[in-house]
Amino acid sequence: MSAFVQTLEPLKPLQSHPVAAYWRKCQVEELFDLPFLDLVFQAAQVHRAHFNPQEIQLSTLMSIKTGGCPEDCEYCPQSAHYQTGVEKQQLLDIEEILAKAQIAKSRGASRFCMGAAWRGPKPKDVAQVSEIIAAVKGLGLETCGTFGMLQEGMAEDLKQAGLDYYNHNLDTDPERYNDIIHTRAHEDRMDTLAKVRHAGLKVCCGGIVGMNETRAERAGLIASLANLDPQPESVPINQLVKVEGTPLADAADLDWTEFVRTIAVARITMPKSYVRLSAGRSDMPEAMQALCFMAGANSIFYGDKLLTTENPDQDHDRELMTKLDLRPLGVAG
Ligand code: SF4
Repeated sequence: MSAFVQTLEPLKPLQSHPVAAYWRKCQVEELFDLPFLDLVFQAAQVHRAHFNPQEIQLSTLMSIKTGGCPEDCEYCPQSAHYQTGVEKQQLLDIEEILAKAQIAKSRGASRFCMGAAWRGPKPKDVAQVSEIIAAVKGLGLETCGTFGMLQEGMAEDLKQAGLDYYNHNLDTDPERYNDIIHTRAHEDRMDTLAKVRHAGLKVCCGGIVGMNETRAERAGLIASLANLDPQPESVPINQLVKVEGTPLADAADLDWTEFVRTIAVARITMPKSYVRLSAGRSDMPEAMQALCFMAGANSIFYGDKLLTTENPDQDHDRELMTKLDLRPLGVAG
């Protein structure tokens, strides 16, 4: 053993983080303000206390109904309010969706997420997606849906069909919600999330950073997620993908350290949630992604396309996971 190794002492926690019953925005901001490496270290400790840090949950996302959405989310190329060149596509045939789900499963995904660009589904839409959900579930995959705002009884119908997770993001800091989206309110999101929980579905709920928000506003987003009771099982953290034609096409770049800080703060405040490195990963160098995994990210979207934007291809992701000695959740090490 070298002299250097002999002098090493075990790492001691810098500070323990009891999970607050309620996270005030200023408390979350204090986490953001920690020295960068202390923050990453603390988040890594929290991660290791609750998860095997070698395991990454893989979800594949497919747009099953694309474009023409009546909502005006300023980040979204699928909004009918903006000219982005996204081609409108009605609800796809069940066979096409099942074929994609089968491929996702064969490549190691454990969850298949289906997105439809609706303000909210109509009863006939719920009937159609229920059939799709049951068929995907029949392949042995976990199922997740993101279909917009739900009316009474719809969450129960989706659960009955075999849906495991419902994705409904809180998008941004509640205090600036209507700077980004003008066709609905933060309370509408909370209302659908309550219906989803009431039906016994698991919740996938995150947000987007890099939309010209301040650090305090990023803290506001994370606090709003961490204060959901119970906390979401999955927390996708997206970096804005700037799409020509959307109002946020020229948003200022977010420094990469700020994105890593956001992941770390999400991990500390939501210790038992899967924190997903989501949109924007194509633009993230491998070393940055590795640091995000160190800071507590333990889930990725896996597949070469998200709803309409690019994602790293699966071969590249497999190579990166091999380099980092990571393995898909559920695969023996
Ligand atoms: S984010 Fe969803 S709700 Fe908003 S415009 Fe896009 S598809 Fe519609």
